[in-house]
Amino acid sequence: MSNRVALITGSSRGIGRAIALALAQEGCQIAVNYYESSQVEDEVNAAHRRDAEEVAREIEALGSKAVVLGADVSCSQSAQQLVEQTVKALGQIDILVNNAGINKDNLVLRISDEEWDQVLKTNLYGAFYCSRAAVKHMVRRRYGRIVSISSVVGVSGNAGQVHYAASKSGLLGFTYSLAKEYGRRGITANVVAPGYIQSDMTAQLSDAQTAHIADRIVLGRLGTPEDVAGVVAFLVSPRADYITGQLIRVDGGLGGL
Ligand code: NAP
Repeated sequence: MSNRVALITGSSRGIGRAIALALAQEGCQIAVNYYESSQVEDEVNAAHRRDAEEVAREIEALGSKAVVLGADVSCSQSAQQLVEQTVKALGQIDILVNNAGINKDNLVLRISDEEWDQVLKTNLYGAFYCSRAAVKHMVRRRYGRIVSISSVVGVSGNAGQVHYAASKSGLLGFTYSLAKEYGRRGITANVVAPGYIQSDMTAQLSDAQTAHIADRIVLGRLGTPEDVAGVVAFLVSPRADYITGQLIRVDGGLGGL
């Protein structure tokens, strides 16, 4: 896949980082995106950038090209610029992985309007903003692979996560529709729904919560970012050329088979 360019949103750490490395391993050139916003202090933006630069170094060590791009995908203009900068730096965009996501777990009665907006805007609007900008380029070349990272919570729901679940369910309808809209133009769109994966997002769970969750997983362990990355790498590879509009759960059989 050495002639392919991939943009992975939120690839400075966690699942996004693992996806960036997996695609680099396959020879793709990678746009590594981290969260950068004028609403955040300079030192915070700089720390996020350092994480992304470290990922870029790992990609280069694998023999692939990487570019580091800061953006806030929840902002339409910033997301559009992210895609345009990818094309400017690497010449094209063949693969988009909508991975950037946040959670702000709380009971519905305690969720503020701002928290609701922030979660929906990052997880769902971000995927829309980036996909719209990327599809414009993909259509011209009649080739594109879009994978969005949803969650099993978007399929089954979860107490304390109504906004997160709504955003992740939204990605399902978004992906199914995108697949139908652009299939004839050589663009596939699929969605991956991870279960509980070890990352900063799940590091907040107590040992007791983690043990309780692992108990409900058929394979008996939490997933790794690499478990998710392998499936994404398959979906954007030629081996998955005839797969579109699909949801793949990567959850170790969470909740039983
Ligand atoms: P994570 O470790 O918290 O990483 C989140 C990534 O998203 C970081 O790179 C972060 O950048 C970036 N990001 C956050 N807001 C952004 C924004 N507005 N614009 C651009 N980038 C932004 O999370 P993770 O566990 O790897 O999760 C990755 C995806 O998988 C998310 O969509 C999440 O909902 C989904 N998922 C995770 C799990 C799990 O168990 N971990 C399960 C199901 C689904 P900075 O580092 O610069 O902040």
